[in-house]
Amino acid sequence: MMKTHTCGELREKDAGTPVQLAGWVNRRRDQGGLIFIDLRDRWGITQVVVDLELAPEAHAIADSARNEYVLRVAGVVRIRPEGTANPELPTGDIDIVADEIVILNESRTPPFYINRDESQVDEALRMRHRYLDLRREVMQRSILLRHKTVKFIRDFLEAEDFIEIETPILFKTTPEGARDFLVPSRLQPGLFYALPQSPQQLKQLLMVGGFERYFQIARCFRDEDLRGDRQPEFTQLDLEMSFVEREDVMRLMEALAAAVVKNVTPEKRLIAEPFPRIRYRDALEQYGTDRPDIRFDLRAIDISDIASRCAFPVFVDNVKAGLNVKCMRVPDVAGALSGTQLRKVAKDLENMARRHGAKGLAYITIPTDPSGELRGPIGKFFNVDLKLELIEATGAGGGDLLLFMSDRDEVVYAVTDALRNHFKAELQLDDDLLAFCWVIDFPEFIWDPENERWDPSQHMFTMPLPEDLHLLETDPGAARGSQYDLVCNGYEVGGGSIRIHDRAIQEKIFPLIGQSMEHAMREFGHMLEAFEYGAPPHGGMAWGIDRLVMLLAGSPNIREVIAFPKTQNGTDIMAHAPSIAEPAQLNELHLQLNLPDE
Ligand code: ASP
Repeated sequence: MMKTHTCGELREKDAGTPVQLAGWVNRRRDQGGLIFIDLRDRWGITQVVVDLELAPEAHAIADSARNEYVLRVAGVVRIRPEGTANPELPTGDIDIVADEIVILNESRTPPFYINRDESQVDEALRMRHRYLDLRREVMQRSILLRHKTVKFIRDFLEAEDFIEIETPILFKTTPEGARDFLVPSRLQPGLFYALPQSPQQLKQLLMVGGFERYFQIARCFRDEDLRGDRQPEFTQLDLEMSFVEREDVMRLMEALAAAVVKNVTPEKRLIAEPFPRIRYRDALEQYGTDRPDIRFDLRAIDISDIASRCAFPVFVDNVKAGLNVKCMRVPDVAGALSGTQLRKVAKDLENMARRHGAKGLAYITIPTDPSGELRGPIGKFFNVDLKLELIEATGAGGGDLLLFMSDRDEVVYAVTDALRNHFKAELQLDDDLLAFCWVIDFPEFIWDPENERWDPSQHMFTMPLPEDLHLLETDPGAARGSQYDLVCNGYEVGGGSIRIHDRAIQEKIFPLIGQSMEHAMREFGHMLEAFEYGAPPHGGMAWGIDRLVMLLAGSPNIREVIAFPKTQNGTDIMAHAPSIAEPAQLNELHLQLNLPDE
């Protein structure tokens, strides 16, 4: 080994020990006869002192070294002279007096600082030199945290008798609502593999295969438009169990989530267990989204009944037409505002609501003085009794702002979500609190008006809730699925369900989601056939590992916790992928390009 110790481990007790360290020059300070080098490796930083008088050759080499040069240093540990200790560094009480220095490799001047927290560096530049970016302390910490998280999950599941099984990457379509990445087969011209969008079918087949408890840290591939928290390839903890009901899977998964947080990031605070459970419908009605951030309590409250009795014609007419009137109480914003300021705030919020399809956003404010008038243009339409009812229904207090929404459900949900996100930014939420919750009772299907068919709300293998099974024939839109999603701070961390294990039920799903039986047999015949050979009842879940680690690390997006992520348009700008294929490669694959004109 080129090193006897790491750059993070030497302490006062090691004084007098001859050591060899190796790493990168984090920083170099030249004080004439003395050169100080902060030598860095994965474990930390140790200061090396090179004295011209004691080691002239080493001094000459240190003189030529620059940031990010790779050095091997031999020397002796010394307690730092009085007054020069560095309390910021774990190794700050000692330094190494160098006898010998070898330059193992030189480095060009890096395009950005490695030794400072340069969060402002252009991301494209960081990605182009990701190998340098990864040297930065924050990246080292995130990637280490990722390793620890996955290791903890593996150990936890092994203790629960799960086994890890690999499933193929070259497979056939495993739809999860995205496009497939296709891989042409050279040996069978004209045929294509699809990369798995998830191991969904394979893990179900492993249950038919009798393994009962399977998991995998699985790579998944989905060709979709990228957003901040998506990547074309990403990592799941994928898991499946036999002979279980919804409750069994949720209980185990909740225990795992809590244990991960307590063991891997004990400095984080975890929402009290058991995690709250929110029905899908309630999530939409109250938070406007099925991934609510429950660290703050702004909710839309249905006040249709009160609104139907007020004198504001729009509300009265809307309620008559079957629309709801909803109210969101925003505490403490209005009291301190002048009339002009209030109107400006309300106008901005209304513009936001309009961007989400609303026709307007009415508001009133509750007076700080109980005998005072309601402020805001529609205040006058609520008489004293209705005012009291409104205060009671919303829990409003003096100085609160009440925002009113009345529109089609989708619009009200979108506005609710937008308002919540807007106020969330102002609330400075505690990122150290991990507020997990379950969302359950999803609809089995969601209507796709464009294609005039039902789309699976999760995927086509989700079992409807037992009490809703009969609705597949009579009223599929009303059937609830056995799906459960684990949400944390507004992000979907994972989702799963109890699966269909009965061919007859699975066959009922295909026509509903617009697939002919012929197509279904071609794509999923192996599943249907497997169900005929004693498929056990089973269910499972998958977690987005990237998202989980992002939350644990407190990172702004998942690219910060993936060693080599793709950019927003799916490019690896370091290696230039995707890239062109040579004509010879295309020939071998019997492929011809038909590119758009531009
Ligand atoms: N396969 C699902 C997904 O990728 C998860 C599951 O149902 O287990 O979202």
